[in-house]
Amino acid sequence: MDQRLNPSLRNQQTIKTPFEVCGRSYWSGLDVRMRLQPAPANSGIVFQRVDLPGQTMIPATVNQRVEVPRRTVLVAGTDSVDMVEHVLAALSGMQIDNCLIQLDRGEVPAFDGSCLELIHLLQSVGTVKQKAQRDQLVIQSEFQVGNEGSWIRAMPNPLGQLEIRYSLEYPHPSIGAQQLNYVHSPTAFARELASARTFLLQQEAEILRQMGVGLKVTNREVLVFGEDGPIGNRLRFPDECVRHKTLDVLGDLMLAPFDVVGTIVAYRSGHHLNAEMAQQLTKLFHSQTNYRRQAA
Ligand SMILES: [Zn+2]
Repeated sequence: MDQRLNPSLRNQQTIKTPFEVCGRSYWSGLDVRMRLQPAPANSGIVFQRVDLPGQTMIPATVNQRVEVPRRTVLVAGTDSVDMVEHVLAALSGMQIDNCLIQLDRGEVPAFDGSCLELIHLLQSVGTVKQKAQRDQLVIQSEFQVGNEGSWIRAMPNPLGQLEIRYSLEYPHPSIGAQQLNYVHSPTAFARELASARTFLLQQEAEILRQMGVGLKVTNREVLVFGEDGPIGNRLRFPDECVRHKTLDVLGDLMLAPFDVVGTIVAYRSGHHLNAEMAQQLTKLFHSQTNYRRQAA
């Protein structure tokens, strides 16, 4: 195999010390206490509902995912944790592979709709390398999921990197067509994606508010696009929307618990397709040993 396609395995990482953060959740509008704890090698990312009698553990894997519009929700039995994608993206951004995330509600804090605050907190506690190596899946041939209107494709990456190329087309004059080529690393994530926020069109925000969702969230905490651009808010990047969609892809790909070496090309892909890609990657990892590199 071409060695350029095949970078050496890195060591798994967890956080150095536990920390806690409180914030309001987006969908349920509740105050949530979230505590991140270091976790042993090979334990992965696991959410725990400490508010429930059984203190249910919910691993962040594709098998625990259920289909819910507009976000990523994980379940174990009758218990769930809502909107995990941005927390997972932040962990992906910091290359944190093992972490226990304890919650006293069924949803994580929304912060400002981006990963910025969490990245600052993770950077300040720091990460620690563990003895075990992180598994890796090297994409060797192209495949795609989705249809003409929206799709996501995996291709080999000749430089041995994880690259995401996202194309967005939004029927709105202030958003329109945006394209981003991003090469994943902790430095690039912090600089290029971490501060990109969730966005909605004004009509979508109104429908959700009529449904009682996001009632406590103001236009300062989520980007709401009116006719002339963000209402009561300012863009952090001219192409903040495509940056956020790229962040979402990385969050959803964390449901496949290994590093991916390849180019992921996404056209108008959302959580449903991102998760389908994570599912396909997981299948490949388990079925085709020539795609997979595991520590001995
Ligand atoms: Zn998002």
